[in-house]
Amino acid sequence: MHQSPLNALTSIVEQIARTGDPKAVMSNIVQSLRELMQVDVCSLYLCTPDFKHLILAATEGLSPRAVGKAKLKLDEGLVGHIASSLSTLNLGNAPADDRFVFIPETHEMPYYRFLGVPLLHLRKLIGVLVIQGKERQPFPQEAEAFLITVASQLAGTLAQLQSKGEWYKKRNPRQGYRRFPGLKGAPGLGMGKLRLVRPHLSLDQVKAACTSEAEAEKNAISEALAAVSEELESGSGHLGQHLPSDLNALFNVYQMMLQSPELSQQILARIDAGDNAPWALKQTIDAMAEQFLQADDPYLKARAEDICNIGQRILNQLLSRERPSTEAPDEALILTGELISIADLAEFPLHQIHGIICTQGSTLSHTAILANALGIPAVMGVEQFEPEQHKGATLIADGHRAECVLNPPAALLAEYQRMIDDEQRFMQGLERLRNQPAITRDGFTVSLLTNTGLLADATPGLLRGAEGVGLYRSEIPFMIHENFPTEQEQYTLYRKVLQAYAPRPVNMRTLDIGGDKQLPYFDISETNPYLGWRGIRFSLDNAQLLISQVRAMLRADIEHGNLRLLVPMISRIDEIQSFRRYVEKAVDALNREGHEVRMPAIGMMIEVPSAMLLLPRLTPYIDFVSIGSNDLTQYLLAVDRNNPRVSGLFDHLHPAVLVALEQIHRQCEALGLPVSLCGEMASDPAAVLLLVAMGYRCLSLSAYNIPRIKLLIRSINRETLLSLLEQTRQCNSETEVRALLAPVLAEAGWGRDSRPSLPGDTASGATH
Ligand code: PEP
Ligand code: MG
Repeated sequence: MHQSPLNALTSIVEQIARTGDPKAVMSNIVQSLRELMQVDVCSLYLCTPDFKHLILAATEGLSPRAVGKAKLKLDEGLVGHIASSLSTLNLGNAPADDRFVFIPETHEMPYYRFLGVPLLHLRKLIGVLVIQGKERQPFPQEAEAFLITVASQLAGTLAQLQSKGEWYKKRNPRQGYRRFPGLKGAPGLGMGKLRLVRPHLSLDQVKAACTSEAEAEKNAISEALAAVSEELESGSGHLGQHLPSDLNALFNVYQMMLQSPELSQQILARIDAGDNAPWALKQTIDAMAEQFLQADDPYLKARAEDICNIGQRILNQLLSRERPSTEAPDEALILTGELISIADLAEFPLHQIHGIICTQGSTLSHTAILANALGIPAVMGVEQFEPEQHKGATLIADGHRAECVLNPPAALLAEYQRMIDDEQRFMQGLERLRNQPAITRDGFTVSLLTNTGLLADATPGLLRGAEGVGLYRSEIPFMIHENFPTEQEQYTLYRKVLQAYAPRPVNMRTLDIGGDKQLPYFDISETNPYLGWRGIRFSLDNAQLLISQVRAMLRADIEHGNLRLLVPMISRIDEIQSFRRYVEKAVDALNREGHEVRMPAIGMMIEVPSAMLLLPRLTPYIDFVSIGSNDLTQYLLAVDRNNPRVSGLFDHLHPAVLVALEQIHRQCEALGLPVSLCGEMASDPAAVLLLVAMGYRCLSLSAYNIPRIKLLIRSINRETLLSLLEQTRQCNSETEVRALLAPVLAEAGWGRDSRPSLPGDTASGATH
């Protein structure tokens, strides 16, 4: 081999990145591998979508006509043996092996040496990668090690192709109808037209991509160039902070750059060579900026920044051109994209958003939390779905089954519509519970408060009988703004929330950005964002922001006195000590300024295991605690709450989480500290059974879920749950815990979809 394995892999993966067509990706792989390893044959076999057969998906060396046709059972032949045993096979005389099967379509010459390795992704078999040669001895160990490495590196990409089934396309009898599995985001069913929401890309983030529609891309770039030119012409190009003071002169420079033949010609040439418009633009801008940077003249050097600004403007135009809003003002939409930010949501009237489908993220991504808060059905991590391919299609977001349904045929559409209507009736039926307490049959009362952060969901909370706000996520308004909101802006907002809920208590949490909660105007790029600059750490390091937020909250509280402060991500004693001092100082300062503010109760989120372990020593500085079970689960289990790859390992019913929750409750009782729980766990009926058994008397959850959970609590008997809790203490896994709880939920009329079964709920055709 001439290249190191690493270089070889890099070049293969680069090719993959540049190729959109799955068949081309696969033939690139076998072609590159055959060359790199200098072998006669390299073939890729993939499992059929039903995992019953292996099909030759690409080959270099066997007959190309066998591709898509040569087929083996999962235990048939040498390839089948590798698939069923999940082990490598390296032979010097393959045809002599008992397991060898000749496949006529391949027109296989007598190749003697044979090396095959299984392709596994996330414990699942994807296919088998094989090399063959004419020599009569096994491949050297070096080749075996290399092929195993290549297989592990490529498995992720191949898994995506394999599951999409494009390579294996048989015409679907019901053209266009498909179902895509995902992860639960928010419950409910929504139906509407696919509306693509693209991320707001910066030029730096543009990735290599090719196009087969060069003409369309060239038109798009020409239109974008003309639009930026027009913007500059009219002087309305909001080039923001990047503009130095001498505006007019700069507009001229920008215009000159924009109209320079070099710029447009280079972009167009790259598109002609196969790049898509954003990628062609990025490369051209980078090359031009580099030229300016090379100059000795400081004036010319400084122009590098200008050309980058111009590039960003052109990109913005390009992307906005890809977002035609063709739908009618009241048309039901399913917003679809990688992850949909709160700013994206804010662009649409709420009544138009009938569902959310994200190709990334997981149950605890903030998109999912927002969807829950707003009662919008959402499905996350639908990795196999490519919304770009289905613009304008009809979609169903099935948040109960975590499925995205594309172009359902008329009969299925009617069935979903019936279920949506039934569900609406069911929710309306629950309205009668609004003023009823959440009390078990044997008299154990639980307070149900709401989680909020948007003014838009203050009203739903009240309408659904929330007894207060258990968690106000103050970062959400920060995420919609274009700058850090001022003290006065915050004051106005907080006052509205406190007023809406008065006299009920409102736990306002100070800023908790970081992790997957990013501010568009304050970049925190970190390798490990969940272990980085988050929550109170960020606030204490940016004390001016903390002080203005606390002052705004204290002032907003003057009228109704229902504010309680909540601090996120406490992991150290000195953090809560410092926080308390800031609050005390703010109270003093405001009183000196003539505002009659009071010292509110201070609560601490238990999200980090160290806060749980230090609880007795933190108690002198706090008045109450609220458990953030989302983060507590993440940090106890070392499972990223937002990573679909490990989402199967994220479960708040993991025995370790249950032990922690019992310990916290016991300690709080002993310390006389009021305790509540405000993570998504409070919306999970199975978890609620155990929380009630443990003695939790206060839960905070999304408004949408309050009536359902109230209905559940009113249907159970705590006494019988105590023995169930005892049994779960013996469970070794969350699966065992859920299996124990399932019959109790079923008895309470609670279906597998986290809601009581709907009348006539056959969910025809729906599968998991
Ligand atoms: C939690 O971690 O459980 C929580 C409620 O906070 P957030 O989801 O906003 O991180
Ligand atoms: Mg949290």
